[in-house]
Amino acid sequence: MRAQGRIIKGVGGSYEVSADGIVYTCSAKGIFRNRGETPLVGDRVEVDILDEREYLGNIVRILERTNTLKRPRVANVDQALIVFAVTHPAINIDLLDRFLIVAENEGVDAVIVLNKADMCDGTEPAHLRSIYEGIGYKVIVMSAYTQAGVEELRERIEGRVSVLAGPSGVGKSSIVNCISDREMETGELSRKIARGKHTTRHAELIQIAENTFVVDSPGFTSLEIDALESDELAYCFREFRPFIGECRFNNCKHQHEPDCAIKAQVGKAITNDRYERYKGLLGGVGYNS
Ligand code: GDP
Ligand code: ZN
Repeated sequence: MRAQGRIIKGVGGSYEVSADGIVYTCSAKGIFRNRGETPLVGDRVEVDILDEREYLGNIVRILERTNTLKRPRVANVDQALIVFAVTHPAINIDLLDRFLIVAENEGVDAVIVLNKADMCDGTEPAHLRSIYEGIGYKVIVMSAYTQAGVEELRERIEGRVSVLAGPSGVGKSSIVNCISDREMETGELSRKIARGKHTTRHAELIQIAENTFVVDSPGFTSLEIDALESDELAYCFREFRPFIGECRFNNCKHQHEPDCAIKAQVGKAITNDRYERYKGLLGGVGYNS
């Protein structure tokens, strides 16, 4: 008998595949041997069920991947929930933009989640919402404490695989607790990272509902953007995209060049802050010559 499911965990050549509400323990011998493919957590797979009572199977096929994150190494991630607290710790917009750029570069849709809304009067989140929704990101303002906004978050994760990203202390573990029945002690995610430095730690998927998963990992562990060429960097700024290709020079870095379509939009479709961030990253990666 065959089933189709998703790999939620993989350790030492053994994989847990969730299919139709059942978790099968699977090997993937044929695939390794014949095609040199390595199954990844997040892969959608076809499984030969070997034993229905013991829930044993063999992975016979990996379905085409939509994307593969590098760190954590997970396939088919639909979206990144970029989590910040509105306060405590104070929001770091520079870091927020870095997370957005990494998500864009990984080909993963990003949703901005502003947690701890119970700790402020709403002015700051409203301001951020207008900026980021203006350039096409969904912004969810919530509180893991009061549960405000949790329903909106649930709707947004339903039927998708989401990875949470964000600095520590903003409430990522608390949010996972809110949306899953599973009890995860606050701070557990960060303790796991600390442990991961000493042992090999593989990401897992937490199954929230039939087709809803959250990656059990603190998100992108590398925020280095140094490998990006200037044209790739510009593309990672969503609001730049409509104007890319309209500059006088097609190798325009949107910095000092004349007739730059991006520069012409600063103060209009592009905020000065985001443009400065772009230039800062360009400088930081050594492409400003
Ligand atoms: P993580 O490091 O991102 O996983 O953050 P945690 O979930 O461990 O939360 C960090 C701290 O913020 C803990 O003391 C939580 O109790 C607190 N916290 C989390 N969510 C909220 C919230 O919505 N409101 C308030 N006031 N505190 C929160
Ligand atoms: Zn330009």
